[in-house]
Amino acid sequence: SGKRGRAVAMVREFEKQCGTPIAKLRQVADAMDVEMHAGLASEGGSKLKMLITFVDNLPSGDEKGLFYALDLGGTNFRTLRVHLGGKEKGVANLESEEVSIPPHLMTGCSHELFDFIAEKLAKFVSSEPEEFHPPPGRQRELGFTFSFPVRQTSISSGSLIKWTKGFNIEDAVGEDVVGELTKSFEKIGLDMRVAALVNDTVGTVARARFGNPDVVAGVILGTGTNAAYVESAHAIPKWQGLLPKSGEMVINMEWGNFRSSHLPLTPYDQDLDLESLNPGEQIFEKIISGMYLGDIVRRVLLKMAEEADFFGDTVPPKLKIPFIIRTPDMSAMHHDASSDLNVVGTKLKDLLKINNTSLQMRKLVVELCDIVATRGARLSAAGIFGILKKIGRDTVKDGEKQKSVIALDGGLFEHYTEFRSSLESTLKELLGDEAADTVGVEHSNDGSGIGAALLAASHSQYL
Ligand code: ADP
Ligand code: MG
Repeated sequence: SGKRGRAVAMVREFEKQCGTPIAKLRQVADAMDVEMHAGLASEGGSKLKMLITFVDNLPSGDEKGLFYALDLGGTNFRTLRVHLGGKEKGVANLESEEVSIPPHLMTGCSHELFDFIAEKLAKFVSSEPEEFHPPPGRQRELGFTFSFPVRQTSISSGSLIKWTKGFNIEDAVGEDVVGELTKSFEKIGLDMRVAALVNDTVGTVARARFGNPDVVAGVILGTGTNAAYVESAHAIPKWQGLLPKSGEMVINMEWGNFRSSHLPLTPYDQDLDLESLNPGEQIFEKIISGMYLGDIVRRVLLKMAEEADFFGDTVPPKLKIPFIIRTPDMSAMHHDASSDLNVVGTKLKDLLKINNTSLQMRKLVVELCDIVATRGARLSAAGIFGILKKIGRDTVKDGEKQKSVIALDGGLFEHYTEFRSSLESTLKELLGDEAADTVGVEHSNDGSGIGAALLAASHSQYL
């Protein structure tokens, strides 16, 4: 019927707007490279903050001892106890607990959030057996993974620039997050020293380097998205301090805030941005990361319901609820391999109370998921290609086959198979056959936990 034709036309139009032909991806990568230079040249020189992390020495593999980590950066937060066994044993033992953050703490006051974290950590520590107690006079040491933009003043201090990913706690902005955390420790008598404040991307680089010296960058694709990479200290004009002995510095790009006229943005993305907690910001993140992908699909379906009666004469009311389709739901529909797409049917029924969907309708829903995921994955690959360009690892020079490895982590990368394979094949496409042989992508397991513990170990006060 005409109505159905209209719905199909809307999907086709959306597909066109989301297009990421290889030439466009090259423009995005070039723009990323240009912005990286600008962000390194001066403070505020670019939408990319290119933050100096004070991590100028990555783990050697010799790190030993018992260290703690806190991982805060999405909807869950984790406490970890990591036993490092040096080159022979690597990560000898790891115990962790995960707690979901009550939503009211994500938009409340600073001390409420930090008190909550401190309490959970104190509980975690107090439940451990005698053998883990530090000898008298010795403090427990912690790596704090705090995955929001922070202007660091040392390896173990830094002030929050802004919140992202659904957090919005006004009185914490501008404050030293380690100071806030330590205050909460003191209130409850928890004797713990924050030895390293790290971004999850930096933890990911550190974790991956522990086992592989070819690692040059880390990328997170989870609730949000971000990247960090190893830069030559000489290539950071804005750095005022002494040059580190290693000659290197890990840079936290905060690439979620990247934006460029070359990005394929649609009216749905513009609406999502306008209605978000941080309009005008984190545009790259809003078309790539797990927090948003499912909601883009919802927005297109809603428009199809309104303008093409896609789900019948009335618009299903549930479809108007922001974030009701989460990215794991989208991923489940996208991967539905059954001939009648019954996963899609069940999801539409359970989430949206839409019954009796036809196979044709379900197919269109799967197509929408594919369009949104493919755009995000291909743009992520373009971002990675931009980093490789910046550090001169995008081509093979004089036949020299120097290996470069990108460490990836995050729930989106780990669990969304279609996203991951599209990212990997697009990166190969961008690199071309010869260079693709020298660039590897690996999953860096639990960089935000183990990486933070490793950095706490390498910045221990007892070394
Ligand atoms: P965070 O980024 O919050 O630190 P994770 O790295 O675990 O945590 O990523 C969680 C995010 O990954 C979720 O918000 C969700 O968007 C995405 N995700 C988790 N599971 C899946 C899945 N099965 N398919 C697609 N995306 C998923
Ligand atoms: Mg995380």
